[in-house]
Amino acid sequence: MSFDTPPAAGCRDAPILKQRGQHEVFCGLTGIIWLHRKMQDAFFLVVGSRTCAHLLQSAAGVMIFAEPRFGTVILEETDLAGLADAQDELEREVARLLTRRPDIRQLFLVGSCPSEVIKLDLARAAERLTLTHSPHVRVLNYSGSGIETTFTQGEDACLASMVPTLPETDARQLMLVGALPDVVEDQALELLAQMGIEAVCVLPTRRRDDPLSVGPNTVFALTQPFLGDTLTALERRGARHLPAPFPFGEQGTTAWLRAVADEFGVDDATFERVTAAPRTRAARAVTQAAETLAGKSVFFFPDSQLEIPLARFLTRECGMTAIEVGAPFIHKSIVGPDLELLETGPQLAEGQDVDCQLDRCRAARPDLTVCGLGLANPLEAEGLATKWAIELVFTPVHFYEQAGDLAGLFSRPLRRRAALRLEAA
Ligand code: SF4
Repeated sequence: MSFDTPPAAGCRDAPILKQRGQHEVFCGLTGIIWLHRKMQDAFFLVVGSRTCAHLLQSAAGVMIFAEPRFGTVILEETDLAGLADAQDELEREVARLLTRRPDIRQLFLVGSCPSEVIKLDLARAAERLTLTHSPHVRVLNYSGSGIETTFTQGEDACLASMVPTLPETDARQLMLVGALPDVVEDQALELLAQMGIEAVCVLPTRRRDDPLSVGPNTVFALTQPFLGDTLTALERRGARHLPAPFPFGEQGTTAWLRAVADEFGVDDATFERVTAAPRTRAARAVTQAAETLAGKSVFFFPDSQLEIPLARFLTRECGMTAIEVGAPFIHKSIVGPDLELLETGPQLAEGQDVDCQLDRCRAARPDLTVCGLGLANPLEAEGLATKWAIELVFTPVHFYEQAGDLAGLFSRPLRRRAALRLEAA
C-alpha cells in the first residue's frame, strides 16, 4: 500500500470515546529535558517545589560535565503561605543567575503546580525581568504544571510563548515547527533545499539570534502533533497552517514532504529525484523491523499525543492491527490527515479514565501496549509487552533516515518478550 492510496474508510469521522477521569501522565516540565538540549543559549528556570526539582533531576539524569541549562527555584513554605514576597525573591535569584551565566540569552520562567496554586504572576515577572535584562536576555514564561495536562504540552506552551515576540515579515517562507534533534532537522532542511525550497526557518531556533520571523506569507508545517497552542499563536500572527500526515515512517515522511512540495510548486520529477533514494532506504529499513510487528496487535494509552500518527505508521507500514488508539486530545485540524489514512477498526478514545481503559486493555490482551512509565511495570507484570511512550520524544524518530529506528522501538519489546519465553521454556 502506498501513502497516496488512503483506505476506503479512514477514521476522520469515526466515533470517539470521550473519557474523563483519573489520568496517569508526566507533567509539562518533562519537555525541558529535550528543549534545553535544542535551544543552546536558553535557560529553563522552574518556579516550583522540591517535587518539581526531583522530577527534573531524575528525568534528566545528573549533569556533571557542563553548567546545566535548567534549574528550580524552590518555593518554600513561607512562599506558599504568602508570608514572603515570592516575586522579589524570584527577581533576586534571576539577577544572581544571569550575572553568573552571561551565556544565557533566553530565560524561560516555567510555572508549576505550586506556583499556580499561589497564583504567582510569572507573566508580570517575565515582563519586569525583560525590562531589566534586555537586550542581552529575553525573559519569557510558560506553564509546565501537571494539572489537567500531559507531558508534551510543555513544549507546546514553550513554543507558543515565543510566537508573540517574533519579528514580523512579509516574506514568503516555510516555517518548520517542533523541536527536533539537530541531525534530524538538518536532514529535513537538506531534502527541502534539494527541492529548491530554501526560505525555511525553524521554531524553535538553536540560538536566539538565528533568523526567525513570521507574517502573512508564512506557511508552517508542524513536525510534532502536540503543538495546538503554538498553531493558534502562529495563526494569530497571520501565518497559515499546512495540514499533512506527520513525518513518521517512509509513507508519512513522503506525504508530509509532498504537502510542502505542492504548496511551494515543486514539480513531480524534482520530488521523485530528491525522495527516491531515501524512500527506498526507509522502506527497506521499516520492512526489516516490521518482520516482528506484522500481524501483531497494539493498544495505545493516551500519553504523548503522538498516538494517532504512530497508529497510522504501525498499521499501514508495519502490518500491525490497532485495537485502541487513545490520545489525550484529538485536534482534527492537526491529526485529521493521519486519521484519514488510518483504516477504520480501532476504538478511538480521547482523554482518560485509567481504570476503565486498563479493563479494556486487559480484556483485549494486545501483543504490544504503548503507555506511560507508571502503567508499563504493572502491565509487564501481568504478561503484556509494553513500550514507554516517553521514549518516542527522546529518540530521533522523524523523517526517512530514522524510519527503521522508529519501527525498531516497537519491535524490540516484542523480541525481548519472545526471548524471555524461550529462556523460560
Ligand atoms: Fe509535580 Fe506539578 Fe511539579 Fe509537575 S509541576 S513535578 S506535577 S508538582
